Amino acid sequence: MPISNARRATAGTQPTTRIGYGFDSHEFRAGVPLRIGGVPLHHDKGLGGHSDGDVLLHAVTDALLGAIAAPDIGALFPPSDPKWKGADSVIFLREALKRVRNAGYAVGNVDASLILAVPKIGPNAAAIRTRVAELLGIHSDCVGLKAKTPEGLNLDQAAIAHVVVLLQKTAPAKRKKKR
Ligand code: MG
Repeated sequence: MPISNARRATAGTQPTTRIGYGFDSHEFRAGVPLRIGGVPLHHDKGLGGHSDGDVLLHAVTDALLGAIAAPDIGALFPPSDPKWKGADSVIFLREALKRVRNAGYAVGNVDASLILAVPKIGPNAAAIRTRVAELLGIHSDCVGLKAKTPEGLNLDQAAIAHVVVLLQKTAPAKRKKKR
C-alpha cells in the first residue's frame, strides 16, 4: 500500500470524491409495461426481469453502490427472493441512496448511456432526466442521458444501460451501532 493510502487508512479519513459505475441489460418481452428511469413509456413490449426490469434505475443503483464499495444490487435484492418479484426499482435506488448518505456522501452528478433500438428515447429524455434527478435529490442539469441505437451489435431485443456517478463527501460516515 502506498504511504499516502496507508496514512489515510490509519487516520480513518475518507476520500472527498468517489466515482461509481453501473451496467445492466434486460431483454424485451411482450405483455409487460415498459419503464425506463422510473418513467412509464408507450411501447408494445416491456423489459423482462424479476423486478419491473427498469434497466436504467438498476444501473444507477449499482453505480451508487459501487461508489461506496457496497454489495451490488443482485446481492442486496436477490432475484431468487420472491419478495422482489415485480418490485418497483425505485425501492432499490432508495436503498442505495440511503447507504450513500450513511457513508457521508451526496450525489454530485450522474451520466448515463442507454442503448436500445426502440422506442425512441429522445421524446422522453426530459421526463427521464427529471425523474432520475428527483429520485436522487439533484437538479436535472446534473443528470446526463444519451440514447444510442445498437448499431452493428445485433442486440435489437435488449436494452442496455451504462451509468457513472460522482459522489461528494458531505459528512463523516455514520458509525454502525455496536451490539
Ligand atoms: Mg437489472
